[in-house]
Amino acid sequence: MLKNVATPRKVIYGVGGFAQINNVLDERRSVKNGWMLIIIDNYFEGNPIVDKIKLLEKDHIEFVDIKSSEPTTVEVDRIRDWALSYDSELPSAVVGMGGGSAMDYAKAVSLMLTHDGPSQNYQGKYGLLKRPGVYTIGIPTISGTGAECSMPAVLSGPEKKMGLNGIWVPFRQIILDPNLIESVPIKQWFYTGMDCYIHNVESHLNYHSTQLSRSLDEASLKLCEEVFLQEGQTKESNEKLMIASFLGGKSIGFADVAACHALSYGLSHVFKYRHGLGNCIVFQHLEDIYGDYVVKFNQMCEKNDVQLPQNLSANWSYDKIKQMVLISMDLPFLWENAFGPDWRIKITMDYLVSLYKRM
Ligand code: NAD
Ligand code: ZN
Repeated sequence: MLKNVATPRKVIYGVGGFAQINNVLDERRSVKNGWMLIIIDNYFEGNPIVDKIKLLEKDHIEFVDIKSSEPTTVEVDRIRDWALSYDSELPSAVVGMGGGSAMDYAKAVSLMLTHDGPSQNYQGKYGLLKRPGVYTIGIPTISGTGAECSMPAVLSGPEKKMGLNGIWVPFRQIILDPNLIESVPIKQWFYTGMDCYIHNVESHLNYHSTQLSRSLDEASLKLCEEVFLQEGQTKESNEKLMIASFLGGKSIGFADVAACHALSYGLSHVFKYRHGLGNCIVFQHLEDIYGDYVVKFNQMCEKNDVQLPQNLSANWSYDKIKQMVLISMDLPFLWENAFGPDWRIKITMDYLVSLYKRM
């Protein structure tokens, strides 16, 4: 069956676009007058940019700690429980401002406000979420994950790192303002940007790719190459990167991620590497799967003076490698995306052990 892909309904794009936040909030209040729950990456705590948000009496800003960990089910449930005790009315909107992590927090909290039980119960398959969440507004401050326009809200739970998935998850409104990503440190800019590049490669070579997904990933790949092979981190290139992320996020909505993400989920779960860096550590070694795209990736590292960790596996026990292999093997859809329905012929335990040993 063909996928039914949901994406944000309303998009504001442009340099300085964040100035429209109060119009967006007012517009929402005119439909449902109530309080706003505004979830912001705590990197921005005390930053004058936050003062531009006009808060009414009951509105609440929740600063989330992204530095110490990517989004967890425990923290989503905590914010949801707090919000339910704060007011008898659900918020008019949940706003998420930050990178993929803060945006995924907002998407997940919005849904858990209308679903009972712990969020870990909803990780995984489509169809577990039964109804829309609270209206959501997304404001990215790093570009690359595509979380601003993609379907999942990726969470680390007690058992697995996996998304809440389905048509109810994407933001209803997003504001894309390239000025907001200017302060991203160069390494983070690169790792998260490479997440976008890798999404595009995995979408482009995907067994389930279509004319629609390819049109999106090709446009995004072209922008990634301009940014990471030619222009570097500049005011102008930030505009391109923001669009690359948006288009790449849309393309994986239709074609989805594949081999690199399957391996990097294992790596991140066992050794706690962050998503962008974890993907980079894996991708540099996937030349026999992704060919010239890996050559280009290595050129991008060189051009931007990024040295990725090497020889990590020298310190990994066989048990840890096996644990990563089992997590990775347990993502059959991603392997099918890479190699088609007969993926088990190629993807054996031994092959995956050999891939991890390259890292
Ligand atoms: P992030 O949100 O984890 O943030 C990385 C770091 O950058 C943090 O320390 C943060 O405080 C800082 N930061 C954010 N904005 C900044 C700014 N403007 N200036 C300076 N510092 C800033 O990074 P990310 O790579 O965007 O997101 C990774 C997360 O996204 C992971 O949890 C991953 O699982 C998720 N993800 C989600 C999707 C999806 O479709 N929903 C896709 C890919 C990845
Ligand atoms: Zn990714």
